[in-house]
Amino acid sequence: MVRSVRAWGLLALGLLLSAAPSQAAMTRRIVVFSASVPAARRVALARSTGARIVRELPLIHAVVIATPSTQVRVAESRLSAMSEVARVDPDPKINWLAAVERPGTVFAPPAMRDILAPIEALKKRAAAAPKPDAGTQRIQWGVERVDAPAAWATTRGAGVKVAVIDTGLDMTHPDLAANIKGGWNVIAKNADFNDDHGHGTHCGGNIAALDNDIGIVGVAPKADLYGVKVLDANGSGTFDDVIAGMQWAVDHHMQVASMSLGADQGNQALADMVKAMHDAGVTLVAAAGNSGGSVGYPAAYPGAIAVAASDQSDRLADFSSRGPEVAEIAPGVDIYSLSKNGGYETMSGTSMATPHVAGLAVLYVATHPGATPDQVRAALAKASTKLSGVPAEGQGAGLPDAAKLVAE
Ligand code: CA
Repeated sequence: MVRSVRAWGLLALGLLLSAAPSQAAMTRRIVVFSASVPAARRVALARSTGARIVRELPLIHAVVIATPSTQVRVAESRLSAMSEVARVDPDPKINWLAAVERPGTVFAPPAMRDILAPIEALKKRAAAAPKPDAGTQRIQWGVERVDAPAAWATTRGAGVKVAVIDTGLDMTHPDLAANIKGGWNVIAKNADFNDDHGHGTHCGGNIAALDNDIGIVGVAPKADLYGVKVLDANGSGTFDDVIAGMQWAVDHHMQVASMSLGADQGNQALADMVKAMHDAGVTLVAAAGNSGGSVGYPAAYPGAIAVAASDQSDRLADFSSRGPEVAEIAPGVDIYSLSKNGGYETMSGTSMATPHVAGLAVLYVATHPGATPDQVRAALAKASTKLSGVPAEGQGAGLPDAAKLVAE
């Protein structure tokens, strides 16, 4: 008898909870204020609408709010009516990898359960994953094609901070972990930035895989690597998640940021953060996109170095997006790099071309301390050679050469 009462009580509680607004039914907006409005005032005004404050984005004078989806229009119109509010930008959750990733051949063991496990469990998992035999390290075609080994006598990128803004990094990968100096999980509070997807690790490996005796070598194998996890295990995140990761890169004095992600549609808050990174001296390298059409975002914004993808025959990959914004072209077809859980896999996309150029930017900054993003862009262009038969909109300045770059 008591048992059934309790059961009914639980059922009633369940009904009550389902009637309350759930996380899934919340909608976010990026509320951008006039530059003169102080931070405390921004929060107070946003809160006055009854909205929950998700986070602050002080570099673009913004506050991210969440309200039940049914109330978002009311909050939006109240905020828009305030003289201190410059704009209210949309903040949808989208898949940022759909536009920059191509299916590839997976050599890694099948993915284990995607969980953010404690570090000890991660270490055990990494230890259990099959590893290439000692003495089997190979330099991949992409790293050769940008002439990185020829620059290594001069620099391997030591002391330069580079952020991979993506799905995280495999924190215990035997071919990467020693170069990982930190990071942040934007999307899950108090969680580490371990990669539960694999994409971020692939990109991180291209930049800074270790020169040891296994696997591959990154373009800048001594760089200080930081993992900024803005995308979930499916490659999805809101605009403010991505923008917050970019702000982290500025706040933590990253010199280079690599963004192998993109959206088909622009967003003014995203554009503002690209500019803020540029003005703060962070060199931002971003994937042009894989639609074969126009360049995606953030790559298309001024201040970002947009990268297109080439294949082993120095042709433009058919999927590579193109337009006047493309700054460089780099290897992005059949790129063998690291995967999560200590594995390796081959992937194609402008996602893979981007970290090649980010690694080159690291090598340049290492030999030219204090170089501004504009100086890095100009140096990359000067060190590049046009690929024959590729239209300008598909390659920008062309394919960069590391030896030329560091010698400038
Ligand atoms: Ca290695």
